[in-house]
Amino acid sequence: MTRVAVLSVLVVLVTSPVASAADAIQIVTAARSVQPGEVVLLTASTAAPIEALHARAFNRDLPTFRLDSTTWQAVLGIDLNIAPGSYPVSFDAVLDRHQVDTTVTLAVRSRVFATRTLRVDDAFVNPAAPIVRRIISEAAELARVWEQSAQSRLWSDAFVRPVPGRATSIFGTRSIFNGQARQPHGGTDFLSPTGTPIQAPNSGRVVVARELYFTGNTVVIDHGLGMFSLLAHLSVIDVHAGDSVTAGQIVGQVGATGRVTGPHLHWAVRIGNARVDPLAVLAILGESPKDPSPVRPASSAKPQE
Ligand SMILES: [Zn+2]
Repeated sequence: MTRVAVLSVLVVLVTSPVASAADAIQIVTAARSVQPGEVVLLTASTAAPIEALHARAFNRDLPTFRLDSTTWQAVLGIDLNIAPGSYPVSFDAVLDRHQVDTTVTLAVRSRVFATRTLRVDDAFVNPAAPIVRRIISEAAELARVWEQSAQSRLWSDAFVRPVPGRATSIFGTRSIFNGQARQPHGGTDFLSPTGTPIQAPNSGRVVVARELYFTGNTVVIDHGLGMFSLLAHLSVIDVHAGDSVTAGQIVGQVGATGRVTGPHLHWAVRIGNARVDPLAVLAILGESPKDPSPVRPASSAKPQE
């Protein structure tokens, strides 16, 4: 209900104060809000055609892609743990043999995430030594995956919901498992019965398709330019690492594998290694501009994590 106001798209027009009108790069930003876990779509327009547009944000290169010779875009993720404050996003290009640049400032506002308590099998909270080694190995493998995205954009269509069910667990929630604090919830959960077909949120290349300790049967899709979808807790995986998938293609079925309290789909999105809310992706890059309000579970008996 009250989230409708939050979901309204914020559009800010910023023009470079230093460049002349003839060579300015103009930047328009669109986001649900500028907060941890959100997604900002930046659209750059140049006065004349350019060969390439370079951008940086959060001390790393921000990949850009061309819509036409004078219009470029970049998708910026704001990690769920980023501190509130002002962050520059810089753009530069060569235009008529002159270097032109502009910088916009993102004012990231604070966000308070809820805390929830869950009870799961103790093996997921106090794992034995061999399991700890497995967890460390799998975390390192995923860390490498997030840094090895395709250099070109592999998605072209709008992002789609992977399952029809509504979101039941909110992104970023601080989780207490069996009384012990663990990582914040890095995705959004969708309540769906076991066996529900799962659609690829967008096109890309499958880079992980196997069982992992916490996320159970897991599919990771590289959408290119640093954007990934992770789909967790599947009962059945229908794709293999290396497969190309299209938006809406069935990649598996909903299940309850890994650290869960019941069957559901956990969808997580990484953008430039930032953990962002998939519902922000749907709001900014999705086929329907607004997502139904997430349902806050009445108790921890609802399937989660
Ligand atoms: Zn989850």
